[in-house]
Amino acid sequence: MAKIGINIATGSLQQAEMIVGIDLGTTNSLVAIIHPESKMPIALKEHNSSSLVPSVIHFNNAANITVGEEAKNYLETEPHNTIFSAKRLMGKSYNDLKQNAAFFTYKIIDNDDEKLVKVQVGNKFYSPIELSSFILKELKAKAEHILKTPVTKAVITVPAYFNDAQRQATRDAGKLAGLDVLRIVNEPTAAALAYGLGLEKETEKTIAVYDLGGGTFDISILKISNGIFEVLSTNGNTYLGGDDFDHAIVNYWIEELSINDEELKANNSIKQSLRLKAEEAKKHLSFNDEFSTSFNEKELFITKQKFEALIQPFIEQTLQCCTNALKDAALQSTDIETIVMVGGSTRVPLVKHSVSNFFGKEVNDSVNPDEVVALGAAVQADILAGNNKEFLLLDITPLSLGIETMGGLMDVLIPRNSKIPSKAGRQYTTQKDGQGSMRISVYQGERDLVKDNRKLAEFNLTNIPGMPAGLPKVEVSFLINADGILMVKAKELRSGVEQSIEVKPQYGLTDDDVEKMLLESITHAKDDIAIRALVEAKTEGEQILSTTENFLTKNTSLITKDEMLATAAAMQALQLAITMDDKNLIQTKTEELNEITRPFAERAMDAAVGAALKGKQL
Ligand code: AMP
Repeated sequence: MAKIGINIATGSLQQAEMIVGIDLGTTNSLVAIIHPESKMPIALKEHNSSSLVPSVIHFNNAANITVGEEAKNYLETEPHNTIFSAKRLMGKSYNDLKQNAAFFTYKIIDNDDEKLVKVQVGNKFYSPIELSSFILKELKAKAEHILKTPVTKAVITVPAYFNDAQRQATRDAGKLAGLDVLRIVNEPTAAALAYGLGLEKETEKTIAVYDLGGGTFDISILKISNGIFEVLSTNGNTYLGGDDFDHAIVNYWIEELSINDEELKANNSIKQSLRLKAEEAKKHLSFNDEFSTSFNEKELFITKQKFEALIQPFIEQTLQCCTNALKDAALQSTDIETIVMVGGSTRVPLVKHSVSNFFGKEVNDSVNPDEVVALGAAVQADILAGNNKEFLLLDITPLSLGIETMGGLMDVLIPRNSKIPSKAGRQYTTQKDGQGSMRISVYQGERDLVKDNRKLAEFNLTNIPGMPAGLPKVEVSFLINADGILMVKAKELRSGVEQSIEVKPQYGLTDDDVEKMLLESITHAKDDIAIRALVEAKTEGEQILSTTENFLTKNTSLITKDEMLATAAAMQALQLAITMDDKNLIQTKTEELNEITRPFAERAMDAAVGAALKGKQL
């Protein structure tokens, strides 16, 4: 039975469920919402802790999973059971990854080069989609704990260069985590939204989003006009970031202290401790001119000047990517009107100055660069929730979509950078007399020959009545819905024969796969269900406790002393049940408190109506 919450303090129905914005990052992930009162985006965090959840998953021997800060502790000590950078695996085959295989310290299955990769932990295999779903589940649970309400709808961000397979994989991960993913949004689009860009009407702006994180660098050039975010170009380096700054400092210290290779090999922890000290130094040097600390009875020292000399080549590389991105967009650096900084490494002053010099303008860095993408996702979520009806934000197809025609040629129906939703159609005909079927192969990419592009789907239009070659008129139409999912339809217009499919990229999961995985997760994880039920009961219990408390402080005059005592006793019993983690007891005590307080809501409403009517002539 569906339950509707009534706020007993005001008698009003509980507000509609919140849609959250999620930044599912390579290194860190986080959730943000639009604050219901201030209407400003905020990142969700528990008291005294960071809003960032490290995108790290640890499996213990019993395959129990922990995600986040706790899991991060096992990165060095249990590299085979501790998965980081799962985002880098999304929608990828082993062939796509083999160049960088050494980067991953856990086991990636490589027995089928073409298929989607899996990760082996112990004797279990996990797809990147499942791994990402574990992170999303953690974020969902965290948000539910903080908001004290179920969270089932989300907007999730992805890099602008993610292809269909990777977007679909992200969507599937959301589904597996029990989230209805209302929209997949480009990270630079979200960052721009967090700065309010694109929310003014009738403005046209060309912006650059410079995103330097821990391990990746992305530059995106966007054109914003009337709420449409068009990705003009993207560039970057998927293995360049703040981690490289840390390594540069480590190598400098190793040289300074004359630590030799044997020493390093013999003692694995030296490098790890130096790396931690290096990150500390890097952060310190964002605000100070020098850093010193002791290490194994020696002194580690570095000046800001030295640090800047060490990282200069990395910054140069990012600026080269900016030059390339501008060239692809056919723009000059002076055409860029606004620069948005994203990612923790943009806190380094030299990074800021260099980017500012490159574009000849001040950069926008007032929003926390770790949170800016999630905050923008929350802005988008709010618009989708209908709270900001003036804006309809549209995204853009990152790559062209088309079908194979004679000679293996790519015939583009929807060019890259078309607005989403989008529709296009074209007529084709048969090559042979009496040809009864026609194969429609759908591709994505910018190359002229389909063999160089990515095949998304294939189907046959059959039962075409026998006609001479060239006579049948086969209309092929493409429709991309607001979620970026492509529907392809082929119809022979003379006979009315038609066939259509929803394009699920080959690397993505079919609905059946997701369904199967969901079923498996249910049968294998009774514990999960029990925990979920307990969390739900606790959330509901805590919610009624806080509304009751609120009511009591505001409406003492409406209740008798006996009622007050009975309510206090029932609240105490419920609070106790919550601390004991006893689901059934929590439910009983919630019901009992509900019983006692139900008449209060009616009284509060009567009083409110009475007050409203006073002084009004009927
Ligand atoms: P992200 O991937 O966006 O979470 O960025 C994380 C990267 O930002 C890591 O390499 C951090 O060491 C780096 N970072 C965070 N804070 C600072 C800071 N104050 N100064 C320099 N780098 C920082």
